[in-house]
Amino acid sequence: MQKITILGSTGSIGVSTLDVVRRHRERFSVHALVAGKNHARLAEQILEFRPRVAVVVNEKVRAKLAGRLEELGLERSEWPEISVGPEARVAAATAAEVDFVMSAIVGVAGLEATYEAVRLGKKIGLANKEVLVAGGGLVMEAARKAQTELIPVDSEHNGAHQCLKAGRRAEVRRLILTASGGPFRRTPAEALARVTPEEALRHPTWKMGRRITIDSATLMNKGFEVIEARWLFGLKPEQIDVVVHPQSSVHALVEYNDGSIVAQVSVTDMRMPIQYALTYPERIEAPVERYDWARVHVWEFEPPDLKKFPLLRLAYEALEAGGAATCTLNAADEVAVEAFLEGKLSFPGIAAVAEETLARMPHREPGSIPEVLEVDRESRAVARRLIAEGVGARGRTCMVRE
Ligand code: NDP
Repeated sequence: MQKITILGSTGSIGVSTLDVVRRHRERFSVHALVAGKNHARLAEQILEFRPRVAVVVNEKVRAKLAGRLEELGLERSEWPEISVGPEARVAAATAAEVDFVMSAIVGVAGLEATYEAVRLGKKIGLANKEVLVAGGGLVMEAARKAQTELIPVDSEHNGAHQCLKAGRRAEVRRLILTASGGPFRRTPAEALARVTPEEALRHPTWKMGRRITIDSATLMNKGFEVIEARWLFGLKPEQIDVVVHPQSSVHALVEYNDGSIVAQVSVTDMRMPIQYALTYPERIEAPVERYDWARVHVWEFEPPDLKKFPLLRLAYEALEAGGAATCTLNAADEVAVEAFLEGKLSFPGIAAVAEETLARMPHREPGSIPEVLEVDRESRAVARRLIAEGVGARGRTCMVRE
């Protein structure tokens, strides 16, 4: 029986992870459910999965959760220990009885707990982007020392993890990550300044949280995936390519030195990669739809338009710049995405704010997670200032380098 902690149990990945647990109760039990503010969903999850520990973001949410558990009629003696804040997140991820940690909190709030779990050699299912985008060097060094592997949950890296089993690392020529292209693949560049948050939130193939959905529309998400792939698989940035594949059936391709290309194909259901991470190196039956080869499938592949989607270019540049540049890019993007969703920024303004924040932040080489978090805070402050100054505002022309 594997005991698991889910960081971000109330989110899209967290809910799918619990669905896998629900179907394999003989294999998994839940030690801790860690959420943010969604006390109502967390209460339902507590009722069903009976964790020993539940963590929420602050006292106010703890009080609401307690109220909800009472309404649901759960006996006090059956309640989990309910704790709050960053230390409680770390404790939930590092408890001695925990075997597996699903890292699926959105944002840097998930970084510290995941890092500490890695340091202790816990098995990690990695969905959270910031863990590697902001703290890649430190996290991978900790994984090496603790001799543990991070099993990627993101469908592209999960696909790559599978494709890389076909040969030796030294034989890999390049990794190709696919991108759906988002809802604006066919939108002319000049029209992007007018797109609304509602339009950007309409992802053509995946149903995900709001930030990652906007990041998919700007291709920032693909940029983050390039950065994550560099750390996860120890590849050079020039060995990682992106290709637009609107059908999202092929998730990743690995080209070997003899010209052979190995691809991973599956339907768009996150329960497959989640279950792969939970049961790795074993594979078991998953409740996902099977690929129907009796039907005609048309798969398209085309290069990404880096002029139209400059955030993908910025990701490569930040990776080349090294140090904390990728952390800054992530922080600036998160602030800019929030501003876009609140109607304070235009769609191209997200890239404009990210690029200007990168230009204004000095080069830094963080040597610890608190230092990473400090760079994150400073970068956010710079991005907020830029937005307040009107950079990238709706109705303004955005200057982004070509
Ligand atoms: P969601 O927005 O659906 O869920 C985010 C989760 O994080 C929620 O449980 C939320 O809690 C929790 N959370 C947010 N802030 C805090 C905080 N300060 N403390 C504790 N918990 C917090 O996101 P997704 O599930 O879509 O994505 C999770 C991560 O996985 C992201 O980094 C995303 O980029 C990555 N990912 C997602 C994929 C997907 O298909 N969804 C695919 C690949 C990667 P609450 O709701 O209770 O506030």
